[in-house]
This record gives sequence, structure tokens and C-alpha cells, in this order.
Amino acid sequence: MDLQEIKETGIEIFDKTLDLVYPRHCPVCDEIVSAISFGWDGVVTGQLIHDKCRKKIRYIHGNTCLKCGKLLPDSESDNEYCRDCYKTKHVFDRGFSIFEYRSISGAIYRFKYSGRQEYARFFAGEAKKLCGARLKKLGIEAIVPVPMFKGKEKKRGYNQAEIFAKELSLALKIPMRNDIIERNRNTRPMKELDVCGRRNNLKKAFNITQNDVKFKCILIIDDIYTTGSTIDEIAHEFRITGVKRIYFLTLAIGQTT
Ligand SMILES: [Zn+2]
Ligand SMILES: [Zn+2]
Repeated sequence: MDLQEIKETGIEIFDKTLDLVYPRHCPVCDEIVSAISFGWDGVVTGQLIHDKCRKKIRYIHGNTCLKCGKLLPDSESDNEYCRDCYKTKHVFDRGFSIFEYRSISGAIYRFKYSGRQEYARFFAGEAKKLCGARLKKLGIEAIVPVPMFKGKEKKRGYNQAEIFAKELSLALKIPMRNDIIERNRNTRPMKELDVCGRRNNLKKAFNITQNDVKFKCILIIDDIYTTGSTIDEIAHEFRITGVKRIYFLTLAIGQTT
């Protein structure tokens, strides 16, 4: 065992002890998931979700849009892109999502507004299983969460995209950078606006905070993908600084609008 392995084992033991003291909640039903369970295949520890609840989640895989990663309806399964991406030119290169929005919306709501930051471990584990190998192959140098306006973050107590990005960074062993871009004003909630309004709402909302961003390939992290205007606005800022390849990963994505 080298020093890194000893450290990782230490963290794992510490985590499991914490799970005993502060039991985790299942992201689907929000009931407690027991830290240790006894099944036919022996003792299982460190579970993050009930087995029966996992079955209710729908994952994004199969025929997806080559741009935004949205599931293509059967009638469009031979197409390269979804209808939205044929209509809109995006700044980002390509995106991935883990869950079909409707099957996980409750979990995302609690993750965002009710302090269930612990779900991030489950989300990151599922992201790794679903597209970890693919993300690794892309050569991503930094994982960058969509920043929240500082005042808003203070009020809420945390930025959910950053909490997820942190866990993903641990799972994929790619550094997380929350210090290279900031949101410089409090934009209106996107759900109140149409596509055009969303774009105007975000104009110049983000600032690169470092003069010298050396990354050539980054992964932007957000909770939900809808029209892609937030990711595009951030990608636009990074393009100017010379980042060549810009991908995104969101927890959930819906269907074509
Ligand atoms: Zn459950
Ligand atoms: Zn698309």
C-alpha cells in the first residue's frame, strides 16, 4: 500500500463511520438508507439508495443527440441531433446527462433547496458508472461548476453544482476548479423566461476571474439542462480565453421542448 492508498482507505473508513452516525437519505424516497444491510450475498455497506428505489430512475442512454445529449424520441432515432439542436447553434462542443429529468426531479429539488447535499455522492457514482470512461477519454483537465451569484450562494448556503462537481472530481480524479469563473450579478430565475429572454438575461453575467486560463479542455457542471443558454454563455467566455474543447455534464435533462 502506498501513501495515497493508505490515505484513500482512511477516508473510506472515516466515511463509513460517519454513515453510521449520520445516516444517509435515499435520493428517491428520502427515507434513511441503512449504513449496513445483510443480504444473501453478505454484508453490504455504504449503500446510497434503496435497491427498489433505484429501479424507478431512468438513465440517459441509447440514441441521444450528438450535441446536447438529450434522448431522441423513437421517431427521430436515426437523426444525429435533437430538434432543438438543429434549430440552435451551441457554443459548447458536446454534453452528457445522467438522468431523465422526470424520474429524478424530486431528488434534484431537495438537493438544490432542502440541503440534501449528501445526494452528491450518489449522483457522482452514477455519473462515473454511466459515462466515466468516456469522460476520461476526452482528456478533461478541469471540472468547472456553473457559478452561483455570491449573494445567492450565501443565502442558500451552498452551490449545488459545486457540491456535485466536488464529488465528481473525487470519483474521476480530475481537479475541480471553482475559482476561474464567477457570476457577477443575480440573474432572474430561468424558469420564468422564454428562450430569447434567457439569452438576454445571461448576457455578460459571467466573468473569467483569472488572466491566464491554460486549460484546453474543460467539463462544465450544472444540475439541469433545459435550453443550454447558461452553458453556452459560460462556454463563450472560456472560448475567448482559448479553451479549445468545452463539454458539459448535467444531472438531468428533459425531452425536446
Ligand atoms: Zn428509497
Ligand atoms: Zn440536442
